Amino acid sequence: MSKIFLCSICNINSGTCNEDCKFCSQSVKYKADIQRYIQKPMESILQEARQMESLGALGFCLVTAHKGLDDKTLEFVCSIARTLSREVPRLRLIACNGTATLEQLLELKSAGIRAYNHNLETSQNFYPSVCTTHPWSERYETCENVNASGLTLISGGIFGMGETSDDRLSMLYSLKELNPTSVPLNFYHHNSALPLNPNPLTVNESLELIRLSRTILTQADRIMVAGGREVTFGARQEEIFAAGANSIVLGNYLTTTGREAHTDLEMVRKLGFDIALTPEDTTTNLN
Ligand code: SF4
Repeated sequence: MSKIFLCSICNINSGTCNEDCKFCSQSVKYKADIQRYIQKPMESILQEARQMESLGALGFCLVTAHKGLDDKTLEFVCSIARTLSREVPRLRLIACNGTATLEQLLELKSAGIRAYNHNLETSQNFYPSVCTTHPWSERYETCENVNASGLTLISGGIFGMGETSDDRLSMLYSLKELNPTSVPLNFYHHNSALPLNPNPLTVNESLELIRLSRTILTQADRIMVAGGREVTFGARQEEIFAAGANSIVLGNYLTTTGREAHTDLEMVRKLGFDIALTPEDTTTNLN
């Protein structure tokens, strides 16, 4: 029986980024109506971690809103990782803190972080249309650093930002080169403050993109449907698993609200899936 890996997200610093990514409501440039704070208090993070663990989440991702790690952010993430490793040891801690050097990643690793999430977002060609303050190549290099560090690489992207079919293929083949263990697929959820002309995807097109990702990324253990699941798939969310997904985000996203966790848990069980208790439960071998 297939098992579903449940991941959860904790926005430990929100809405403070100076970059200009047109798809991101956390950029200070677009004044989206979101919560903005420098550091979430440790008590709140611990409470969220315990709650997510009790619901069955295995992954817990510590996300910051900056282009990349600086010394202060690195120490903040490391101190949280040390506390959570001690207090909620069953959770697999993931960091998602933008561009990072090999040395910074090794520090995260020694503090208890097990995986690093850094998305390519889209193709190398299309990236300058959605971001002008840093190049796509930096994103790719950070993913290479993750692989060199021995942390598990989590990398994916966003569909529906105005990119072409060729851009989607190009991103998926770039991901294949990097060989991520888990591939988060986000479906762009438009915020009216953002200067993007999205290309809304139909449910069938979105399911086809999951299938395509699963077909190309044969080595990845997990295809995770992440942001935009609820608005994109609506009443047809159950179909994402037959299309090839074996991981979802439980609870809220960075700046948008997810479904009630119990609704998702019910859906997973109703479909006959078990919840993964270890990452090995989702190890795949499609070759
Ligand atoms: S670098 Fe990251 S946090 Fe900053 S605007 Fe871009 S996507 Fe958002």
